[in-house]
Order: sequence, then structure tokens, then C-alpha cells
Amino acid sequence: MDFRLSEEHEALRESVRDFAREAVAPVIAEHYERHTFPYEIVRQMGKMGLFGLPFPEEHGGMGGDYFALCLALEELARVDSSVAITLEAAVSLGAMPIFRFGTDEQQARWLPKLLSGEALAGFGLTEPGTGSDAGGTQTRAVLDGDEWVINGSKAFITNSGTDITALVTVTAVTGTNPDGSKELSTIIVPSGTPGFTVAPGYSKVGWNASDTHELTFDDCRVPAGNLLGERGRGFAQFLRILDEGRIAIAALAVGLAQGCVDESLKYAKERQAFGQPIGNYQAIQFKIADMELKAHTARLAYHDAAARMLAGEPFKRQAAIAKLHASTVAVDNAREATQIHGGYGFMNEYPVARFWRDSKILEIGEGTSEVQRMIIARDLGL
Ligand SMILES: Cc1cc2nc3c(=O)[nH]c(=O)nc-3n(C[C@H](O)[C@H](O)[C@H](O)COP(=O)(O)OP(=O)(O)OC[C@H]3O[C@@H](n4cnc5c(N)ncnc54)[C@H](O)[C@@H]3O)c2cc1C
Repeated sequence: MDFRLSEEHEALRESVRDFAREAVAPVIAEHYERHTFPYEIVRQMGKMGLFGLPFPEEHGGMGGDYFALCLALEELARVDSSVAITLEAAVSLGAMPIFRFGTDEQQARWLPKLLSGEALAGFGLTEPGTGSDAGGTQTRAVLDGDEWVINGSKAFITNSGTDITALVTVTAVTGTNPDGSKELSTIIVPSGTPGFTVAPGYSKVGWNASDTHELTFDDCRVPAGNLLGERGRGFAQFLRILDEGRIAIAALAVGLAQGCVDESLKYAKERQAFGQPIGNYQAIQFKIADMELKAHTARLAYHDAAARMLAGEPFKRQAAIAKLHASTVAVDNAREATQIHGGYGFMNEYPVARFWRDSKILEIGEGTSEVQRMIIARDLGL
């Protein structure tokens, strides 16, 4: 059993860490404050190859693995989660469905742009009326000659409305299964298709420099060839994408939790109270020790899930455990880091305020904590 990173993974971790500190940290607070999308950072991440990390070179990827993506996400989120979720959604929700399920033609058309970061893709599963219960999908797609006609709407879709968004993959009801359940399929809808409307960005509690929109489809027509993978396989496809995505979200949550430790350590050494640095008080030391403990155990959980996935073993339960634990830990650490910063922790100019605002969504997105518990219990045979 060896818990150390390989040389390649360690080198990647260090280069992303340097990038986050040197290129992200100085500019991100302003993007966050103004709710602007960090195009320049995305361009630089594209140049570094981050969008292509877990994909083979033949598609324009870096030939790395999913664990490499997770390490990059952890290091980015240690500084900022809007940037990290932009990368996470672009790779594991945007490009991955096309890589896993796309035809040669779909891959040749979309992957080079997506893997270079020149373009982004969104993943449209959630709807205004249904999220956890994806079987409640209302969006419909009807085959009319050689075109799909799509009607419906999607809610909270990440990376769906940037200037460089090329497409969204949309889950839609395309018929009825023999057992009477809905037949779900996934369809590629390129940006700018008539009938496809992107609403203005949401006003969010956190992730303010990331891009999230409601989408509507009103007699939106796309070629029949835009079906992604087999008709009727939509349910199985998004379950696979979300299982993997949970490991990535866990990595992102660990990064936020570790960022809280970084900032708290710094502050505890500087801030004086009652004649000495607050870090001299055991109450503060114990808080920071507990935060480190939580970040560390959550990291082990996502490393375990990623190792199982890469070994081709079942990993659903471990991914759910990692996501559930890491998101809980992120919220805990953000709360304690804010506490350690006292009144300054409530001021937006301090990174911990951003960490606090960004932590809560981790218990909701890509499957709520309740859904993770349902997955774990089901996998245990309940
Ligand atoms: C900023 C942001 C970005 C997002 N990006 C994307 C994206 O790119 N693509 C995408 O498709 N979606 C995206 N989402 C949607 C996200 O995945 C959903 O919000 C999430 O899955 C929860 O669904 P919901 O909001 O409909 O909540 P609901 O499913 O309505 O749940 C409400 C509450 O009920 C609980 N609940 C539901 N069912 C049960 C049950 N059986 N037992 C116990 N409790 C239950 C839930 O845990 C939750 O606490 C994003 C959301 C946000 C906020």
C-alpha cells in the first residue's frame, strides 16, 4: 500500500498549486465581487492542458487520468472554487459524456475544442421541477423526420452561457419503456440553435465567478445525429457521469477545506489578542488541528474512490462516501475558518468569506448529501 503520489502527479499538483497562487489568487476576488467570468484564467488553464487532463492524446487530451483531474481541482479550490467548478463541470460534465458515449464524428467535431479549453460544454440534467429525482424529467424530444424537436427547460446549468460555450448535452424523455417508465435519452444542442434560449445568470450565494443559467427549449430542432450514444440510455449515462463527477466534487471540497486550514494558520500567527497571537491559544490550535484532520481524511476518501475507479473496480459507494464526507468537511472547515478570523471573516475581502459562501453548494450539487446517503445505503443492500 503506497499513499504517495507518483512523480507525474506530484509535478502536476505543484504546477497547478503555483498557477492558483500566482494567476488565480490576485484576480479572483474582483471577478467574484463583480460576478464576471474569468476568461483569461480559463484561457491559461487551457494552455496548461488542464481541460484535457484525463483524455487520450488522440483526442487532443494530455493522456493523464481522472485522478490527475482531481489533484488539479483540489489545488485550484484551495484558492478558489469558482475556477475549480468551471474546470470540473467543463471536463467531467461537459466533455466526458461526449468522450464516453459520442460517435467518432461527434468526438472529432467537439473534443479538440473542449479539451483545449477553447470551448466549454454544459450538462443539462436538472430541471426547475426536478433535480434529485431525475426520473421526473419533463423535457421531451420527439423525432420529426431527421430532426429531434425539443421542448422543456433545464435549471442551474454550469458553463451553459459563456461566450465560449459551444453546446449543452440535454437529457429528455424520448418515449416510454416496455415497463411503462420514461425512456430518457441524451441529445447534443449546439449554442445558438434556434429555439434554445439561455436566461441571464442566476444571482447566487456563492461560486459567483462561475457561469450558471436556466435554459429553455421551445420547438428547438437539432439533427437526429445529435443523439448522444444509444436512444433510451440517458439514465445509465448520467448515472455513470455523476458517479465519476462525485469523486471530482470531493476533490474540490477537499481543496476548499485545505484552503481554510491555510488561511486560518496564517491568520492565527498574525492576529494578536490579549497580548499574544491567537494561535498560542489551545482553543484555536484545536480548531485548526480538527480542520486538518477533516481535510486529510476526506482526501483519503477521494483517493480511495479514484483508485478503485482507475482499477476498473466498483466505486459507486466509495465515490458517494468521498463526496458526502468531503462536502461536510468543507462546510465545517469554512465555518471554523470564519470563526478564527473573527469579524474579518465576515468581510468579503478575506478569502475565508468566499470559502464560506462557496462551501454550502458542495452538499447540494451533483447529488445532495441525502442522495449520497441513499446511494450508500442501497449499495449496502438496503
Ligand atoms: C450552482 C449550481 C450549479 C449546478 N450545476 C448543474 C449542472 O451543471 N447540471 C445539472 O444538471 N444540474 C446542476 N445543478 C443542479 C444540482 O445538481 C441540483 O440542485 C441538485 O441535484 C439537487 O436537486 P434540486 O435542487 O432539484 O433539489 P431537490 O431534488 O428538489 O431536493 C430538495 C431537498 O429534498 C431532498 N430530497 C430529495 N429526494 C429525497 C429523498 N428521496 N429522500 C430524502 N431527501 C430527499 C434533497 O436532498 C434536498 O435536501 C447545479 C446546482 C447549482 C445550485
